[in-house]
Amino acid sequence: MSASSTSAKLERDGVPSGPGWGQLQRGEDIDLPDCRVARSSDYILPTRARRKIIVAGDNDTPSLLTMQAQGAQVLVHEATYTEEILQKVGPGPQHSSARATAAFASEAGIPNLVLTHFSPRYQEGSGALSMAHLEEEARAEYSGNLFLAGDLQRYALDKHGVLAAVLPQDGSEGNGERK
Ligand SMILES: [Zn+2]
Repeated sequence: MSASSTSAKLERDGVPSGPGWGQLQRGEDIDLPDCRVARSSDYILPTRARRKIIVAGDNDTPSLLTMQAQGAQVLVHEATYTEEILQKVGPGPQHSSARATAAFASEAGIPNLVLTHFSPRYQEGSGALSMAHLEEEARAEYSGNLFLAGDLQRYALDKHGVLAAVLPQDGSEGNGERK
């Protein structure tokens, strides 16, 4: 039952708006002016499953998020480099590799992983450094629902906790989902 259909039902049943509506939502039955009783169970909204989504910034140590990751459905985390390039670049920029991020998501049991913030040296296609390498490296560590985010890509998390890329509303082809 949605909030608006609940208020419509309350009005239809002649329950005066005011504090009584709040009492019903808190699980209390209330006496109506005409001596009827409004039962909370007739109006209460179903509780929504809680969602926990972690969106991290630059972070060369994904395991710092171990506590926050408990029970999370989605992790959005940078995977700036493949491991090989990360080793070449060194720790200065404080970025993660696809391997490190994916291994962390796997260990933490997070079912949906969105990788972002890729170094511009990775290109589409099959060049020496391609996005496919980032994806391959992540997949080797992570068997969950994996995405390499594209600019402006939108995602929807359904009630079963499954993340999916949403096509842009202008009808042009989405570019964020690479399954
Ligand atoms: Zn950065």
